[in-house]
Formats: sequence, C-alpha cells, structure tokens
Amino acid sequence: MVRYKEAMKLNCTELVSALRDIYDLRSARAVLEWDQSTYMPPKGNDARARQIALLSELAHQKLCAEKLGELLLYCSSGVDISDDDQALVREARRDRDRAVKVPSSLVREISETCGQAHAIWIEARKKNNFKLYAPVLKKVVELKKQEAHAIGFGQGVPYDALLDGFEPGATVKMLDPIIAETREITTRVVEATSNSRRKPKIRILRRKYPLKQQEQFGFAVLLKMGYDLDAGRLDSAVHPFSTSFDVEDSRITTRYDERYFNDAIFSTIHEGGHALYEQGFQKKYSGTPLAEAISMGIHESQSRLWENQVGRSLQLWKYFFPKARKLFPQALSGVKLEDFYFAINAVQPSLIRVDADEVTYNLHIIIRYELEQALFSGEIQVQDLPKLWNDKMKAYLGIRPRKDSEGVLQDIHWSFGGFGYFPSYLLGNLYAAQWSAFMKKDLKKFDQLLTQGNLVPIKKWLNENIHQHGRRYNAQQLIMKITGEALNPEYFGNYLRDKFQPLYDVKW
Ligand code: ZN
Repeated sequence: MVRYKEAMKLNCTELVSALRDIYDLRSARAVLEWDQSTYMPPKGNDARARQIALLSELAHQKLCAEKLGELLLYCSSGVDISDDDQALVREARRDRDRAVKVPSSLVREISETCGQAHAIWIEARKKNNFKLYAPVLKKVVELKKQEAHAIGFGQGVPYDALLDGFEPGATVKMLDPIIAETREITTRVVEATSNSRRKPKIRILRRKYPLKQQEQFGFAVLLKMGYDLDAGRLDSAVHPFSTSFDVEDSRITTRYDERYFNDAIFSTIHEGGHALYEQGFQKKYSGTPLAEAISMGIHESQSRLWENQVGRSLQLWKYFFPKARKLFPQALSGVKLEDFYFAINAVQPSLIRVDADEVTYNLHIIIRYELEQALFSGEIQVQDLPKLWNDKMKAYLGIRPRKDSEGVLQDIHWSFGGFGYFPSYLLGNLYAAQWSAFMKKDLKKFDQLLTQGNLVPIKKWLNENIHQHGRRYNAQQLIMKITGEALNPEYFGNYLRDKFQPLYDVKW
C-alpha cells in the first residue's frame, strides 16, 4: 500500500510538472502577445507571428502527447487522491480530451485560414465591403463545423461543442431560455429609458481630461480595488485587455482619450476586475487547472461586477468624485455628483458593441448569438449575415447600420474562429448581478464600504468565494454553491430596475 501511494504521488508530481510545461509555453506566448499589443515596433510583426505560432504548436503537442494521457489515466485511477487532485486531473483530462479529438491537420487548417481571415477582415472593414470577407468567412464556418463534429455534442447541436470551449457545460438548450428572458428584460429597460423625459448630460464626459491625470486616477482606483502592482502592470493599448502569465504576473492595459472620460477609467476598472481574478488563484496550484478561470463567462463576471456594479455606482462616486474634481478642475468644477453619475450611466442604443452601455450591450450579444446559432444549424448562410444583422439591430435596438463596418464587420471574433465566444459577455453580466446580490447579503454595510472607498472586503469576498477555487467547480456548480440556485436573469433584472428606474424616473 505504501509503495502504491508513493508511486501514485510520484506520477502525480510528474503530471503537475507536465501541465506546468504546457502552461509555461502558453504564458511565454502570452508575454509575446502582450508585447505585440503594447511596445513592439510595427516591423516586428512577421517574426512575432512565427514565434507565437511555434509556441502554440509546442503547447498543443505537449497537451496531446501520449505520455500525458497515460499520466492522467494513472492519476485518475487513484483510490485515495485528495479532492483537489481529483479536480485537477478531471479538468486536465477535459482539456486534453477536447484537444486530441481534433485532428492536427484540421487544427493547422483552421489556424492558417484564420490567419488569412483576419487580414481580409481588416481590409473588408476598412473598405466597408462584406463581399470581400464572405468567402473566407464561409471557409472558417465550414472548418469550425468540422471541429464541432470532431469534438462531439451528444444529443445536442454542433454549436454546443463550440460554446463548451468557452463556457464548459453550456448548450443552446440551456442558454436559449436565459437569453430570451434577458432580451425581454433588456428591451423593456431600453424602451422605458428612451421614452423618459429625463436625459443625462453626457457632454460633461466629453470635456478635456488631461491624459496624465487620467492615468494617475486609474492607478488610484486600481490600488483601492486591491490590485497588486508588484504582481501586475498597467500599460496602454489600442484595445484594452488583460493577460496573465502567472498568479504573480497579471497585467492590464487601457486606452486614453483626452476628450472622453469613460474610456480609460472604466476599461481600467473592467480589466482590473479580470486581473484580480487571476491574482486571486492559489500560488501553490500555479500552472494547473486549479489556478485557472472556470470559463470566459465567469471571467467576465469579475470584470463586469467591478466595472458596473461597483464602478458605476453612486456610492463609489461619493468617494471618488471629489478626488476626480481635484484632478480635473476644468472639466468638473461646478458639476454636480448626481449629474456626473447620471452621465456615466446613460442608456443609449448605439451601433458599436464595444461602445455600448451596460443595458444595450446585451442586445448586441443576443444578435450575435442568434446569428451564430442559425449559421451552425444551417438555417442561414454567410451571405445572409449583413441583412439579418441590420434587421435585428432595427428590431432590438431601433437603429439600423448604414454600412457593414458599423454592422456585421465590426467584430474581430469570427475572423479568428471565435464562434460561441459572444455569449460569455452576456453571461458575465448575469453572473455579476447574481454574485453581487449575495455579496450584499454577506457584507452587511456594502453601500457604506463603497462610500468610504473601502473596496478590499469586496475583493476578499470574491477571493474566498470564487477566485481561490480555480476550476475546482464548474460554473453551474459554483453559482449553485454560492447562491443556492442556478443562473437566474431575474437578478440582473432587479439590478437594472433598482438602478435605472430612479435615474430615468420611469417604471416598467
Ligand atoms: Zn472583459
């Protein structure tokens, strides 16, 4: 027995070290990608693409290696392995199973086609010409269908296999009623706020906000959130993002616009929320699934909670507004806190997803979800996309794009084959509302904490309830564990009601 245990321990140590090698290769790739988006000179692009492709391939090879399969099998057959090790093995097996099911020739073809698709998408968007993009997009869809079939989808539909890549366990059958309810909730709010006579003074946000002070302000907020700058960085990039190479190196970027206050600060808080998740994993599990995010939806719930539930709350700005006024005296002198708060929470249907407010944002996602689903069920074809996109924009948001660059061509996701990714954003909003409803029960003086700028208890709550577990639970288990029920859009509806009814002086 002793011998058996020791052999077991040895093999599982070997397993962890094999998993860490894969993680390190991916992290090395992520460092290169971070550099590419921040400091790399433009001519470095070609070599960088090669370096990234090589590291991706090496990581993929290691994940699919026979030896790893054997180690996983051996460790999962252990009778007395701890719960943590069991979870570690289960999740690592999940990753490997998905990876080995897809033939390497298909992996290569997808990666090459997406490389072309990305370049063509950039050109098509610039020229505002979907027809340029359609042939290669059609090819990407075909290849992703093949991938879905290779992975398998049980009794479900091919699109499920793609959803599962971003939100493990999610299926169309499960998401459809959630999405339908969210659409109903959201359209009601959009309608009521559009009909309100109260309008926010959004011009306040378009005054001059010097960049240096914006940066200073961003750092101040991040520190209050408990973001560890010895285990992270804040830089600027064209598209804000967060990335992580280890529990102790989780970085964020933001972008600054001197003439728009919202851009930098809310991107900083949003990405900071992502980074706090990564900084909140347990160091001892670094490089294993127990120090990884459960899903993109859960990841997004962290950023949305900080950005919207905390970052756009009146209580928080009671603390930060006087500080902002000191930093931006020209723009904010004479501005009332209430007007500022209303302005940063304006609900306004718009064409571009990334510029959307927290209410209309969901409708942008629902349009993409419905189109992707129809595309993968064969109900519609790639060439139908522009018209259907515009029709849905008109139906859900009341506005119709005049050109494809502000419609179907606006997102990068399809060009890299990221079908199934969009729902994560919406799920993030829903999870965030459900977390914060329960967090408020646990942290009795929640509002008071915000008005005092004391955000550490919020971070700690997230650390304890969500971050420290890594992938020990899946999303469905975690939400059940914390809130005692499955994901329920009603929480999001309540959150919107409590916030936007008084702001717009409306009822729905
Ligand atoms: Zn995000």
